[in-house]
Parts: sequence; C-alpha cells; structure tokens
Amino acid sequence: MKTKTALITGASQGIGRAVAEELAARGYRLVLGYHASAHAAGELEASLHAQGAEVYAVQADVGDTGQAQALVEAGLARFGFIDVLINNAGIGEQRLFTEIEPAQWRRMMDVHVGGAYACTRAVLPAMLRAHSGGIINISSIWGVVGASCEVHYSTAKAALIGFTKALAKEVGPSGIRVNCVAPGVIDTRMNAPLTPADRAALAEETPLGRLGTPQEVAKAVAFLAGDEAAFITGQVLGVDGGFGH
Ligand code: NAP
Repeated sequence: MKTKTALITGASQGIGRAVAEELAARGYRLVLGYHASAHAAGELEASLHAQGAEVYAVQADVGDTGQAQALVEAGLARFGFIDVLINNAGIGEQRLFTEIEPAQWRRMMDVHVGGAYACTRAVLPAMLRAHSGGIINISSIWGVVGASCEVHYSTAKAALIGFTKALAKEVGPSGIRVNCVAPGVIDTRMNAPLTPADRAALAEETPLGRLGTPQEVAKAVAFLAGDEAAFITGQVLGVDGGFGH
C-alpha cells in the first residue's frame, strides 16, 4: 500500500502532537507544523524518526497567510503530495465580549479560520489533480453550543464547521473528503489556566464524567483520515464525552 503523507498544523503540543503520534504509528509520513514551540517540535520529530517514521518539522504562524502557504509548500517540496491536511493549530482566550479588542478578535479569526483557509487553499490544487485527498478541521464543542466569555473562540470554531460542510460539497465530486472533529474538554495546555474547581465542574457537566485525552481525539482524526471513512464527508464528529448533546 502507498505510504500516505499528512500535514498537521499545531503538531508541537496537545491534540496535534497526539495526532502525529497516532498517524506515525499507522505508517504515515508527517509534516509537523509548529509556531513557538521549536524545542517540543524538534523533540517530537526526533522521537518519531527514531521509531522509523519519515517526519519533517516546519515553523510557521498559520495566522499569516503567506507563512501558512509556505508551510504547505515546504511539505509538498519534501514529500511530493499531501494526502491529508489536519487544520488543528489554535489558541484559546477567555474574555468578556465587551473586552475583546479588535486585534484579539482578528487574531482569533486569523489563526483558526484564516489558517485553515490558507493551508487548505495551498494543498487543494494537487489534491484536485490527483482526485484524492482528505481535510480534517479541528473545531470545538464551543463552536457547536457556544461558550460564555469565549465569543471570539466560539465564532471561529463555528466558522470551521460551515467551512467543512461547504467545502465538502464543493470538492466531493473531485474525490476529496472534508470533515470536522469537535472535541469537548480535553486535558491539554490550552486548558492549563482552568482552576481545579473549573475542571471538576466541566467533568461533572460531561456525561462520561471526565475530561478527554488528546489521544482520544487523535483516534477519531485517524479514523476520518483513513479508508475506513471512505464514504464519510461533511461531518462534524463530536469527541466530547457526550457534552454537546
Ligand atoms: P495546545 O496544547 O495549546 O496546542 C496548540 C497548538 O497550536 C500548538 O502546537 C501550537 O504551536 C499551535 N499554534 C498556536 N498558534 C499557532 C499559530 N499562530 N500558528 C501555528 N501554530 C499555532 O492546544 P490543544 O488543546 O492541543 O488545541 C489544539 C486544537 O484543538 C485547537 O484548534 C483547539 O482550539 C482545539 N480544541 C481544543 C480543546 C481542548 O479542550 N483542549 C477542545 C476543543 C478544541 P506552538 O506551541 O508551537 O506555538
């Protein structure tokens, strides 16, 4: 079977890192996008390489269209084709709506929505020519149900759901699948600012009674990336312990 290549944005930490580990274990070649965590990305690259995976770590701020495009171009130059793009890079921020400054609003949109737009736009022409490929966007349960004090984040994550559904219709006839994963509360750096009481309250609100792990999200991403999901497109898969229902 042909070795597949996946490009993961935000692969240096948390969910993106777990996706990289899961896909490497399933035999994928990987382009690991990272922004500020050069050390963590280098460490991951070395550890996956030691396990026999072909990996290439590339620094880029996906909130900058030119850098996002350069990230994809670097991956294409190295491996020739990208079978699966995982738009995972993201930032969190809690703020009252009236205290969200215009620059903070724009940054939230630039990283989540602009990043997905720019990476997808750069990766699609080759996928269209090949009549094959997959795109997976990491949204959030907050993009489905909305979160107080996270209107900008919830807006950006909801936009990724619209992006997924619309693009799935546009490129489905070209053999390309586009799906979305909407994680619930996952134990990563993004949730480090939560107090123990906040964590306990969120666990209690989750029907399965706990926070999720990055590995649990990674398994869902790997499923959507693979041939087992060959007839699945335009979907939003909640990995949320039942939180969103
Ligand atoms: P995390 O541990 O903070 O990791 C975020 C990743 O995104 C890091 O690898 C970071 O890279 C990268 N990143 C941030 N800004 C970037 C930029 N401008 N350009 C390129 N990369 C950038 O958070 P996480 O929880 O794994 O989050 C991953 C995704 O899941 C995000 O889209 C998040 O919104 C979503 N999500 C998380 C949860 C949750 O509960 N944790 C729930 C739902 C959805 P550097 O460290 O190298 O800067």
